[in-house]
Order: sequence, then structure tokens, then C-alpha cells
Amino acid sequence: MKRVYNFSAGPATLPEEVLKKASEAILEYDNLGFSLIEMSHRSKPYDKINEEAEADMKKIMGLGDDYQVLFMGGGASLQFSMVPMNFLKEGMTADYINTGVWAGKAVIEAKKEGNINVIASSEDRKFCYIPKDIKCTEGAAFLHYTTNNTIYGTEYQFIPDVKVPLVADMSSDMLSRKMDFSKYSLIYAGAQKNLGPAGATIIVIKKSFLETAKDEKELPVMLSYKAHAAKKSIYNTPPVFPIFTVGLVLKWILAQGGLEEIEKANIKKSDYLYKYLDENTDFYSPTVDKDSRSRMNVTFRIVNHDLEPKFIEEAKEKGLVGMKGHRSTGGLRTSIYNAFPYEGVVKLVEFMEEFKKNNK
Ligand SMILES: *Cc1c(COP(=O)(O)O)cnc(C)c1O
Repeated sequence: MKRVYNFSAGPATLPEEVLKKASEAILEYDNLGFSLIEMSHRSKPYDKINEEAEADMKKIMGLGDDYQVLFMGGGASLQFSMVPMNFLKEGMTADYINTGVWAGKAVIEAKKEGNINVIASSEDRKFCYIPKDIKCTEGAAFLHYTTNNTIYGTEYQFIPDVKVPLVADMSSDMLSRKMDFSKYSLIYAGAQKNLGPAGATIIVIKKSFLETAKDEKELPVMLSYKAHAAKKSIYNTPPVFPIFTVGLVLKWILAQGGLEEIEKANIKKSDYLYKYLDENTDFYSPTVDKDSRSRMNVTFRIVNHDLEPKFIEEAKEKGLVGMKGHRSTGGLRTSIYNAFPYEGVVKLVEFMEEFKKNNK
């Protein structure tokens, strides 16, 4: 197989060696004479997969025993409901920041569960920037925000400095850079952007915050963090294969040198692309304010919008696929997550230059 450069926003490019190991495990796991996907989740080999994935996650994030990692199904979208269901109690208010489609969906689901306050938003300028002035409601249950806005291509360059528990949807930039993760009470991410295949959701929760969650008796049990935590992510049958593959991605991150090296590589890729865009604004126009740009999802337009379908078509012929912007925004979006190779960005810029010359 000749692999194309896949700029898809999610599910997205994974390391080739991970794909290879994952496919081998589907045929036979660890010389046991059967497949990983035929194996009980209440078995020694699966215990090991689950435990190692939790330990590697914490190691990469620099977190200790005061945090627990949970693996669940339901995607990041289920977390939009679970977070307020578990932590937004009667009479309390939770704060939200609205920075685009996913952040907005989290707001919509939270409103169904209780009182919320949208304390900042970038809707006034079509979500092309990150709001910097963040003041929480006195005594808020938590502040929820989205670290990277996959669709609009904006990303927080700072951690909001607030006194209330911090909850973040990191679906599209989880483990893409060094961060002080100990500032967070709860982090969640659907795996399919940066960490593995769809089907696994990762939740990293501070144990002292978990203590304050509603009791599992007050909630549908599958929606209770406490229930999942007490059973170490095997309350019911978890998505075994996606979680195993996330585990392989974590080992790959460690082998790269952890977040230090991953971040360097991500800076190199995104800087290269943004530099080209900034030098060619006669033809291309980046859509996000400079101080809010995402290293994961680079969004831009061609000044003459009519050329965009042609751009996508011709790029595809060159093995550069998945650059169509989200259906809600149009334009172009190149997603260059951890596993996306630098050479692919170089190829893209070559193509962009050629396309510009031919269509000026
Ligand atoms: C993709 C995405 C989601 C939705 O994830 P699902 O796993 O499909 O529910 C939520 N938040 C962000 C930031 C995303 O990029």
C-alpha cells in the first residue's frame, strides 16, 4: 500500500507502526492462539493492557496518584452531558466558554442539566480568536472550555487562571504539547483525533474532584464517573480494541521522547505552514488571529473562494487528502496531528506554491 498524506480532522492519521501492531493483534494476541477482539475484558492480558495504558497516560502527562484515568465509550459528545450530570448540582452554576461548534454543543447539553453561565465567547467574530478575558462566576461548580477548536482552527496558548475547578475538552490537542495538567480537575478527549481510533474516550480526573461527583445511585450507572472509577473502567465491556490501540499510541509517544519532542515536531510542522500562508496572503488567507492559531488544525481560504473545489481535487490527485473545511465553515483545513509527518507538510506547501502559480 502507498500511504497518502491524510489531513483529515478525525478520525485521523495514526503512526504506521501502531497500525501494524494493532492489525497483528486482531489476528493473534501475544501468541495466545486467539485475537485481542475475542478476548475477555476480565482476563489477565486485558488487565495489563488497561493498567499500562493508564500508567503510560499519567507518565506522559506528568500526573501522579491523585489522578485517575478512565476509558469509556460514547465519544467526547457524551462527556458534554456527563460532566454537568455529575458535577452541576442543584442550586449551583457552571461556567462555559463558547469558542465554536464543539464548545457550543457542550453548552447546549449542559443547559439541559442545570444553571450555566457563558462567561466568554468569540462568536462576535465567527470564532476566529480565543477570548482572553476570563472571569468566573463566584462559587461556580466548574469552568468548562475547549482547548483546541478543531473546526475553526483556534487553540488556547494559555491555561485560564481561575479559582474554580477547571474542566477541558482536549479532544483535538490532547498530548500534542507540554502542559501543566495538574491545573485541571477533569480532562476528556475522544481518541480519534490524536490518540487512536474512534470508540475510546479518555477521561483524566482528579480524585479529589471525583469525590464531589454525584453518587452513582443518583444517576444512570453508565453515566456515573464514580461507577466507572470504582470498577477501573471495566464496569461493563469497554471498547477493548480502541483502548488497546490508544495504549500503542501512548507507547509511541514515549518512544518519540514524550511531550517535549512531540511538541517540537508539532511546532516545526505548523510554523512551516503558517509561514508560507503569511508570506502568500495575495492568494491564500489564514482565517485565525495570529495569537490564537492552532498547531493541530490549520484553517485558511483561497482569496478567490471559487478555486477551493479545484484545489481540493488537484491536491487529491497528488496524494494529499482530507483538506475540505468543515461543512459549517467551508474553506480549507489541514489537520496535522502528532502522527502527521513533517514531509507531508513540505509536500503540501510545494503543492500550494504550484497551485498558486497556475491559478493566479
Ligand atoms: C471531534 C470533537 C468532539 C466530538 O467528538 P466525538 O468523539 O465524535 O463525540 C468534541 N470536541 C472536540 C474538540 C472535537 O474535536
